[in-house]
Amino acid sequence: MNDHPDRAAALADLPDLLLPWYDEHKRDLPWRKNTDPYRVWISEIMLQQTRVEAAKEHYVRFLSALPNVRALAECPEERLFKLWEGLGYYSRARNLQTAAKMVAERGFPHTAKEWKALPGIGDYTAGAIASIAFEEPSPAVDGNVIRVLSRLLGDGRDQETLKGAFAEALRPAYPAARRGDFTQSLMELGATVCTPASPQCLLCPLLSRCETRGDSLPQKREKPPRKMTDATLFLFRDGERVALCRRTQGVLRGMYGFFMLEQSMDAEQAAAFLREAGVRGFSLGAPAAHRHVFSHVEWNMTAYPVLLSSPTDLAEVCSPVCTPPEWLDKQTVAREISLPSAFRWCLDLT
Ligand code: SF4
Repeated sequence: MNDHPDRAAALADLPDLLLPWYDEHKRDLPWRKNTDPYRVWISEIMLQQTRVEAAKEHYVRFLSALPNVRALAECPEERLFKLWEGLGYYSRARNLQTAAKMVAERGFPHTAKEWKALPGIGDYTAGAIASIAFEEPSPAVDGNVIRVLSRLLGDGRDQETLKGAFAEALRPAYPAARRGDFTQSLMELGATVCTPASPQCLLCPLLSRCETRGDSLPQKREKPPRKMTDATLFLFRDGERVALCRRTQGVLRGMYGFFMLEQSMDAEQAAAFLREAGVRGFSLGAPAAHRHVFSHVEWNMTAYPVLLSSPTDLAEVCSPVCTPPEWLDKQTVAREISLPSAFRWCLDLT
């Protein structure tokens, strides 16, 4: 394996190789229509944990509902979550709005360092926005770029080690003009040609320079196993109303969901819990099971439909992980409430 002490020299002519290729092969994506900082910023946040194809439609909808930073700063939180629905990782939307309030007051930052001071923005996103929207020579090194460079240079060390090294080595390679396009050309090559499982080396503009030509570099660091959590959900229904809670801790904190206890319960235990919480006149439907995988946690859920025969106050039904259930009519839930996908499957059971 090559250690490449002088990576900067090895990367110096990347712009000459990549920019012509990018001009010919770049995908037509909605956030590439112009380099307005607001548009670039929204796209980079959406793409942090969402695939390009999934983000496209959401991006267009989001931009037409909230076309500028002031509209985002002033958007009611529940409407913002509704617009974010389907993208997951709602903390991104929350951070985006906190940052939008700061930007609406002070104006857009220009440098990567200034962008990084905003909530929800790390090295990669800061580098991407500053180079694409402001032509700063600031590298944006994500998994795609690490893969391209580790294969190009034959450096198979693990991603975390390579990240900082590649950011430093790339900085002097930035051209005098078209810096944003250079950033995007590297990302684009990783996303469309130098893909994880089957790189298309014969179509690659870097083929003649590539040390590995398709080796499965870089090494992946083993991820720690996900935390498994058993959970019981109660789907309270009362005619045309359903009862929702807000998560008070852990993953999805602050989001709407169904009443949940982080323990498994059979039907007998579930009924006993409801009786002890003072719920009367209920019938328990057949339970349904569902598994939801987050990045670090996995929920194994069992949901019990709970049909109530008369209007019932559920204020005494308590859980350590959510607020007591509150009644909402089903149409309001469908129209106005953003229900994370970890809970949305339950709607069919209510
Ligand atoms: S030649 Fe192949 S392995 Fe090397 S950078 Fe191009 S696509 Fe990746």
